[in-house]
This record gives sequence, C-alpha cells and structure tokens, in this order.
Amino acid sequence: MKFHRGDNKSGSHLLPNVSEIQLPEDFHWPDGARIAVLITFDFQAELGTPVLPTGKPDYMELTERQYGGRRGVWRILEILERNGVKASFMISGRTAEFYPQATRAIHEAGHDIGGHAYLHESLWEMNREQENEVIRKTKQVLEDISGAPLVGWRSPQIRASENTLNLLLENGFIWRSDYLNDDLPYLLKVNGKTMVEIPYTVATDDAQLYMPGSVRRQGGGATVAPGPYGNPRNALWVWQDEFDVLYEEAKREPKMFIVTMHPYISGRANRSKAVEGMLKHIKGYPEVWFSRTIDVAELLRKQYVKS
Ligand SMILES: [Zn+2]
Repeated sequence: MKFHRGDNKSGSHLLPNVSEIQLPEDFHWPDGARIAVLITFDFQAELGTPVLPTGKPDYMELTERQYGGRRGVWRILEILERNGVKASFMISGRTAEFYPQATRAIHEAGHDIGGHAYLHESLWEMNREQENEVIRKTKQVLEDISGAPLVGWRSPQIRASENTLNLLLENGFIWRSDYLNDDLPYLLKVNGKTMVEIPYTVATDDAQLYMPGSVRRQGGGATVAPGPYGNPRNALWVWQDEFDVLYEEAKREPKMFIVTMHPYISGRANRSKAVEGMLKHIKGYPEVWFSRTIDVAELLRKQYVKS
C-alpha cells in the first residue's frame, strides 16, 4: 500500500479565487536527481530587532544581529564557495542599503536573491496600499543595488497577509516561499497568473534551532536576557535527519529539502561548522540537485505554465 501522497489541494482554500496545481506523479528533477536541496538565508541583519521593555533601543540585540551584515554573511559566502554550492538569499531592502557590498557579492557569486520586505515589516499589520508600497520599494532597491531583476519573495516571519500573493503577482514576481504545508513545490493560479510556491519549514530554521520561540516573539516584545541558545551539534543533527528521511522517501517520488538560516545566527564562527557539516553530509550522496529558488521556479514554469 502506498501512503506517500494525498491529492488534497488545501493551498487553494486559503484565499478566494486561487487554484492549486500539484506536481504530477511523473514529475522529476533534472539530470536524474531524486531530491532538490535548497539552501536559503534570510538576510535582514539588525532589522526587526525588538526594543527593550522601556521602549529604548536594545543595543545588545541590535549589534548581535549586525554581526550578520558585517561578518556572518561573508563567512557564509566563503563556505558556499568552498563547497561549490549555490544558495538563495532573501534580503530586506534596507539591509541591502546598509550592506551593499555584501548584497552585490551575493549576486556576483551566482546566488539567487529574493525580497524580504523593506524594513522587515509585519505585512499582516498593513493595508493593501501600504503592503504594495513595501513590495514595490523592496523590488526597486534590491534591483538597483544587486543589478539583478527581483522576482522572488519570502515574507518576514514567514507571515504573508491575505493580499501578499496577489500583490506579488501584480508586481511581476514568479516565486515565493511563504507557505509551510508540503515538501514539494507547487503552483498557485490567480486571475490567469501563476506563482511557484516553494514551501519552507520552521523545523529546519536556525532561528528556531538556536533561539526557540524567537519567530513567535518577534513583534511581541523584547526579552532582556535572550536564550538559552541551542547547540550547533544539535542543529547539524536536525538538518541531517531531515535530509536522510526525505532522501530515503525520494527513492519513491521526488522530494525537496529546504533549510533556512540567518547570517547573524549561522554566520557565527562556531555555528558555521554546522553549516559546512550539513553541506558535506548532503554532498556525500548521489542524485542530489543543489538548486536555487529561481532554478526551481523556472523548471516548474517551463513545464507547467503556458506563456
Ligand atoms: Zn526575516
């Protein structure tokens, strides 16, 4: 008996007038690969740092996160280059303005860039016009600084609003990574336009592994004494187990492994060993397609979207 797949299309009943196209049974990744591996980073550096309970800036948290733009992102880029891996970076517009050299270096090294709002805003708190302005501004700033067209997106806190999907399509985006409900990408169709949804998971997010609860805490007030912090050996173990199970299942049908990290978290020296350990673990297996978000989006569009 096969238990590996249902046929429900629950991604389409989250919003009105959206239909979902799942990948067919005979879908396969390029070059005989059984699994796609997406190494992704959310690069917001110090944006979104909660203030202290007094309402004053928290220089401890602010500067801890600035490490991601000043040092962490460069260490990550070295690890990716050393291992020959192309990744995807979701960058906030203001972060690109703070760290333009790093933003350009990410693009020049061949990694994909997606938008991560302008000030790492909570999109779900905005009305439609405000959110449209954030998307438009983020696109313009990232395109100006990186020199690459911006066609992908991940919402801050992975919390899209009810308007995000439509606004992204209206602004020319073709992929996003905002839902958490599958381990294969799929297509969402609205008003004749198609979005490639590349599901993410908090189960492998370094913010959750090292700072449990931090995603829920964002926007909900600061802690004066953050932590306790997770252990890099534990993070590596989680990443390896996630990959191993999906790889085994991928003998029956294609699968996707996606991990999300932050340069201010995983770019620290001791944690960077877990990043490299994960890459080396995955590279030890055959039939693995290290792919960027744009590669997955283009593959699906070529096969399933009529232009
Ligand atoms: Zn973020």
